[in-house]
Amino acid sequence: VSKTSPFEKPLCLVLGYHEIAPLQGEMRRSLVVSPVMFAAHMAYLWMSGWHCVRLEDLASAMDGTRHLPTRAFAITFDDGYVGIYQHAVPLLRRFQYTATIFVPSALVGQRGKLDHTAPVDKMDAVQLRRLCDLGYSVGSHTRTHADLPLLSDDELRSEIVGARDDLEALVDRSVSTFCYPFGHYSPRAVEIVQAAGHTLACSTEYGRVYGGSDRFLLPRVAIGDNLSLPKFIYRLRRAGSLVAPVGGSTL
Ligand SMILES: [Zn+2]
Repeated sequence: VSKTSPFEKPLCLVLGYHEIAPLQGEMRRSLVVSPVMFAAHMAYLWMSGWHCVRLEDLASAMDGTRHLPTRAFAITFDDGYVGIYQHAVPLLRRFQYTATIFVPSALVGQRGKLDHTAPVDKMDAVQLRRLCDLGYSVGSHTRTHADLPLLSDDELRSEIVGARDDLEALVDRSVSTFCYPFGHYSPRAVEIVQAAGHTLACSTEYGRVYGGSDRFLLPRVAIGDNLSLPKFIYRLRRAGSLVAPVGGSTL
């Protein structure tokens, strides 16, 4: 989907995490990174001269109204698990790193197993508002973690426009970013995400973001499985060098 020209410099690398918590309980391993390993990932980025930016700033950079530093990265957490509040944010604050949490609005404050997400408690409205006060962003992840390609137009509007309205009321802030549950989307879903006034949307496609990337299907680098530091570094590198290879950006 990208219109990347050869040798174009990447704008940003968007990391996609789910839960940060000690490795125990019922959480699917592929979705969890331990606090110790997460700290190692962040320390590596810090020490190798990466700069953490807000997803909203990436949207401005794609508009041409903002310049991002080289080696810019953004952090996202999908599903709003409570470990983000308990374990990830205290670590991120030490590095003064920001992040966006993609929240299914109807699952806020829900305990344990529900719908399509892992059987782990979700942050409640008080916790989400507190994170917003600390400079973190809340993005939309539909109302119910819906599988969008299966829905009618009315259902799509409820899950996309409705979720945005619900979240804005919940955190009392504008919500301008979106993330497709399961990475599943359809042309109609993308159209409604865009028409609803979001400025960008994250997919689960693997790669870095370039100036010519489709801003409503932004690639990310998914991190789970308690990825060790050498594997983390390899995964960042494999997502694209500082210069895009000829013929594409999503190596
Ligand atoms: Zn999700």
